[in-house]
Amino acid sequence: MLKITGLTKSFGSQQVLHGLTTSFPEQQTTVILGPSGSGKSTLLRSLNFLERPESGQYDFDGLQIDLSQPVSQATILKVRRQTEMVFQGYNLFPHLSVLKNVTEGPIYVRHQAKDSAQTTAKQLLAKVGLADKADSYPNQLSGGQAQRVAIARSLAMQLEYIFLDEPTSALDPELELGVLKVLLQIAQEKQSMIIVTHNLAFARQVADKIIFIEHGKILFDGSSQDFFATTNHRILAFISAMT
Ligand code: ADP
Ligand code: MG
Repeated sequence: MLKITGLTKSFGSQQVLHGLTTSFPEQQTTVILGPSGSGKSTLLRSLNFLERPESGQYDFDGLQIDLSQPVSQATILKVRRQTEMVFQGYNLFPHLSVLKNVTEGPIYVRHQAKDSAQTTAKQLLAKVGLADKADSYPNQLSGGQAQRVAIARSLAMQLEYIFLDEPTSALDPELELGVLKVLLQIAQEKQSMIIVTHNLAFARQVADKIIFIEHGKILFDGSSQDFFATTNHRILAFISAMT
């Protein structure tokens, strides 16, 4: 379980996250929703220490981190060994084949044997619908394919949590669908994920839990079912603006 208590984050004099308390259950998909500028990306980045919150508590995997104290690199590394932010597919290694992009981490970070890393990578590429692209290079892929390679690469690392910030926002609708299908399948296989998205139909399908943020505060924290049955007028206004 990943849990935060009273997490605050400011940029200069602007407070962006106002003491957020919530949890992200294991083997579930938590979706973060909210208007632009509400703090979704800042929250997700804070969970991976890409941003440094200034106060609150962060609990993960036996680690209890007091965010008002300096956090050591060793602690950050521990968190990052079990969590990964999947960027828009642009962080693939351009000089390595698709297969090597997927096997690098398992071989050099996880010290897996090359053979087994390759076998697993091929299975994962098949899972994301790219079995035939193993020998291609990133610049030969569409945006959607690159994104799916990035997802396969995260899966190969067997991380506890995968974080995705608007994973399809840069994609054309027909490419988006392929990525969303892969994420739905992974969710069904109980990979723990935290996803920021603007796609409400997808959120409804994939989320076990939904957190709705506005102006850096949590307005809703509960099941997907309850979210879509809400009578909160701010949330209803958001839903109707998005659909
Ligand atoms: P969202 O992802 O919900 O659109 P963000 O977390 O990106 O929102 O941004 C929340 C607020 O924090 C916005 O007002 C944004 O301008 C501000 N912000 C985000 N990142 C930075 C930064 N690196 N420096 C200064 N302000 C930032
Ligand atoms: Mg954002």
